[in-house]
Amino acid sequence: VTLYLAGGTLDRVANLRKDADWLADRLTSPKTRVVPIRPPEGPIDPSTNGLAVITTVDVELPDDAILLGVEDDVAWFAYDVEEVPSPLPSSIRWAELRMAGGLLSVEEGSLLAHAVGMVNWHRRHRFCGCCGAETKLAEAGYMRVCGTCATEHFPRTDPAVIMLVTCQGHALLGRQKVWPRGMYSALAGFVEPGESLEAAVRREVAEEAGVVVGRVEYRASQPWPFPSSLMLGFRAEASSLDLKVDTTELEDARWFTAEELQEATSDGSVFLPPPVSIARFLVDGWLAEQ
Ligand SMILES: [Zn+2]
Repeated sequence: VTLYLAGGTLDRVANLRKDADWLADRLTSPKTRVVPIRPPEGPIDPSTNGLAVITTVDVELPDDAILLGVEDDVAWFAYDVEEVPSPLPSSIRWAELRMAGGLLSVEEGSLLAHAVGMVNWHRRHRFCGCCGAETKLAEAGYMRVCGTCATEHFPRTDPAVIMLVTCQGHALLGRQKVWPRGMYSALAGFVEPGESLEAAVRREVAEEAGVVVGRVEYRASQPWPFPSSLMLGFRAEASSLDLKVDTTELEDARWFTAEELQEATSDGSVFLPPPVSIARFLVDGWLAEQ
């Protein structure tokens, strides 16, 4: 299964990141494709509703642009528009990655997710977590090095579990108070240090809904660079329909049969996350089995 944001096709060429001559050549090559990023937004061409085509002919790349990869001998770089206030083609429209889901192809969405994730990481790691001094970009953006203690910092990804809990023909869906009214989704939470993914699934479901989960089965993953998560999707089997919702974490959680869920979504009292999300993938997969 390839989910939206998870279908990148660029060769990430880790072996070329340290090649200063190759990088210098590609930073100025007129063939090079440029992806300016204004997290969580990327550049859309309103005439095609696809990713805007921008090259080094349109904008001058900074020396510390981030190498995304290579495809058909064309190098792709991203950069943070706040770091480089050079003018961009005026035809560009900015679109938030989560909202552009209906517009972009899986490949373009995935490329933007990669770029947004990298720019987010650089923005949040300007200073060394060990000694507090400034860090500098290295290896075409895949490392930052502290100027004082020389600690090497690497781009981070924060694992989060998202799980559709099922029991006796029901699925457990919950909602947070801040979500749009009527939206229900699979439960989710961050993995903590010293915890397996399965343990994180069981802990989050117990904490948020008071439901005891037995079997946990991995289904798929989706990069979620808002700012740096990787969503790991599971199906989880509960032993009973007993519920005890923690209302500090969730506004509500309910068991739905497939019929109840279809009814509630068609009369508009409940709506599900957008089709591009892993949450929806998990719910749709369960519905298809009923
Ligand atoms: Zn340091």
